[in-house]
Amino acid sequence: MSPLDLARPEVRALTPYSSARMEAGGADIMLNANESPWPPANDTQGLNRYPDPQPAALRARLAQLYGVRDEQLLVGRGTDEGIDLLVRAFCRPGVDAIAISPPTFGMYAICASVQGAGVLSLPLDTDFNLDPDALLVDLPQTVTLVFVCSPNNPTGGLVPLASIECLATALAGRALLIVDEAYIEFAEADSAAMLLDRYPNLGVLRTLSKAWALAGARIGALLADPQVIDLLHRIMPPYPLPTPSVQAALDALDEDGRRLTGERVATTVVERERLADALAAMPGVRTVYPSRANFLTVSLDDAAGTYRALVGYGIVVRDVGHYPGLAGCLRFSVGTPHENTRLLEALIGIAEAA
Ligand SMILES: *Cc1c(COP(=O)(O)O)cnc(C)c1O
Repeated sequence: MSPLDLARPEVRALTPYSSARMEAGGADIMLNANESPWPPANDTQGLNRYPDPQPAALRARLAQLYGVRDEQLLVGRGTDEGIDLLVRAFCRPGVDAIAISPPTFGMYAICASVQGAGVLSLPLDTDFNLDPDALLVDLPQTVTLVFVCSPNNPTGGLVPLASIECLATALAGRALLIVDEAYIEFAEADSAAMLLDRYPNLGVLRTLSKAWALAGARIGALLADPQVIDLLHRIMPPYPLPTPSVQAALDALDEDGRRLTGERVATTVVERERLADALAAMPGVRTVYPSRANFLTVSLDDAAGTYRALVGYGIVVRDVGHYPGLAGCLRFSVGTPHENTRLLEALIGIAEAA
């Protein structure tokens, strides 16, 4: 069975918009896209021209980084665009649904709601682990997309690849399994991308927004079966990727950029463990949830008061108390070593004042 059998029939039948840049790439004289023939003042990037819809050099470099073939990868404006395209292509409004395991990243449910698709919540267990069997029990046929976030935001837990395989097998022919690996670089674990050739109903979301320090450039990727990639490309706007963002991504992925990212990820992991140990020993801290990402979610005696007091120290953290199961919790992103020390000092000050 092809994963396309799960897609909305009207999307499969769509004749895509054919942009000038898709029809013809380069020539000496480009008179096919109503662009300005002159670059803007002080331009070095050729910004008068529309960008390549899927820049080959960036696609190739990302494919190499993630260990997939070019045709298994779609580059978009952050992972957020990949989530939105998946929901639009695979969920019929008023009919189909996505499944999520709260507490988890909010964008899956938002994209589904905008599409008019249902959201089935199958919570993580009390330790915030994902139990594949519990998720699969009585999963309705209307669910066409199952989102698994690993490491999970905001709890930080990693879903083992054995669980991913179990889900992909059980969902074959029924639903796509989408594994969001926005934080996998910090987990020092294998990516589910290595399973793609065996499970055509598997997709993996990766991003340059976290470990690669490019949140402002908005570059993310979906790794999936080439037929799924092709389908989503057909419903994507014609020129999704701004030229400066593509250039920033290529720079970040060159040899120097990769070395710098490797060093920063290593520092972040060391700092995460230092913070976790220090927080666990602090008065007012109930639980530090084990994290494989670049943040720590912490249960506190007085989360709201601590949040406000930290603002007084010039530090903002995330109040995640509204997530199911996370009442009284704050999420701390791991900063620079200096910033983390400031956070710990502020928390000590707050505990002493209490
Ligand atoms: C931050 C984050 C992303 C990244 O989104 P982008 O659109 O790529 O910036 C994706 N998934 C999760 C779970 C995140 O926390």
